[in-house]
Amino acid sequence: MTDAALGRKVQVSLPNRDRNSARCQSVTPGSNPHGSRVLGKCAGIPWAETRSSVARGVQGALVMSARRSAAAVCLTLLTCTLVHIPLQAQSRVLELNDAGWKALDKGDADRAARLFAEALSVQPNDPVLLFGAGVSLQGQGRPRDAMARLKRSLELDPKLKSASVFLGRIAYHEGEVDLAIKTYEKALTLAPGDRELMSALTEWRREAEVHRTFEERRYDRFRVQFEGRAEESLASQATTVLNSAFWRIGQKLGAYPSDTIVTILYTEKQFRDITRAPEWSGGYYDGRIRLPVAGANRDPNLFTEVLTHELTHAMVSNLAPRGVPAWLHEGMAQYFDGSDVEAARRRIRALGGFVPLQHLEGSFSRLTAAQAHLAYDEALVASAVIFDRPDFGWTRLLTTLADGQPFYRAIESFGFTYADLEAPFKR
Ligand SMILES: [Zn+2]
Repeated sequence: MTDAALGRKVQVSLPNRDRNSARCQSVTPGSNPHGSRVLGKCAGIPWAETRSSVARGVQGALVMSARRSAAAVCLTLLTCTLVHIPLQAQSRVLELNDAGWKALDKGDADRAARLFAEALSVQPNDPVLLFGAGVSLQGQGRPRDAMARLKRSLELDPKLKSASVFLGRIAYHEGEVDLAIKTYEKALTLAPGDRELMSALTEWRREAEVHRTFEERRYDRFRVQFEGRAEESLASQATTVLNSAFWRIGQKLGAYPSDTIVTILYTEKQFRDITRAPEWSGGYYDGRIRLPVAGANRDPNLFTEVLTHELTHAMVSNLAPRGVPAWLHEGMAQYFDGSDVEAARRRIRALGGFVPLQHLEGSFSRLTAAQAHLAYDEALVASAVIFDRPDFGWTRLLTTLADGQPFYRAIESFGFTYADLEAPFKR
């Protein structure tokens, strides 16, 4: 399994996701205490994006890898566990298992989940079927359910390394770093020297060590983690900003996700060490909001904008764990962080061309820096078209996307086409 499957490396491999690259270049050296840190810049792909816009590629890589690994053990395990059930049922389970992995290969997690669920109704204690069910549930944006199946799978067969890898990654992204570490430690005893396991383990232990001395401030649904007294007032400020932005964003979207939102305040060095985010980044979201806060007291507006940007990713991810195009995620985050729509539109017009939004549904990673500037501007301008529609049904759109409907079709039911969203690029 590659890191592209679930890990942070996916996220940091996308420096071109710099929505403010244009602004970044305009920062006068020395004028910003944080070097290249610029308003609202977001280095992280929302974890939701790894479930959604990036999901097809990422999930595909993961599933392919999971499938390959499972294939080797599949027949043996299934055959072992199947001996206790009638022949006809055995062959049905094998068919369902095969069809389930094929569905995952095609990116159809919903169908795969149904197939594995049916197989498990006949053979509930099969580790491979449980593994397949876990992969499918993750593909459906249900990490907690996925983790439960994977844990059960590993109870039944601790040697199923792919299940360990998968569980560790999901656990990490769900903030359960201890579980992630324990899972990989166990897997390493069965696969000593495995580089992928060792590399992730080293990073997670380093992160756990940094967080060991952190304190936590809880307010309503927010948990803000910080280190030392110096940052206590900043943590307090963060909860105020988060709370106020939460209600403002929720009101616009017509929904207030109930999930706990974790924000971690780092020193610049801790932030770079843990996220490996590029220099220009000012924030990161990977299931938790991570911010470097050195100097934030001197620039409270920047702090507010970055927090609001990342909070939007968190709320959208909670409302739609998958299916939201990358451009829409970034467009919404920029809209709420107060980015200037008109300035973005002028920049697009000045270039005299644009990238079709449909090409920006997935990762921006293949774009050059110049294309990425444009992509972020397009994301903002196109999202603003939707925001301009009074009483737009954001909740319905996000639910429809999370249910697996492609964006172009989902937006049609609101009377929009992609051409409508791209129209401001031309005028
Ligand atoms: Zn962002």
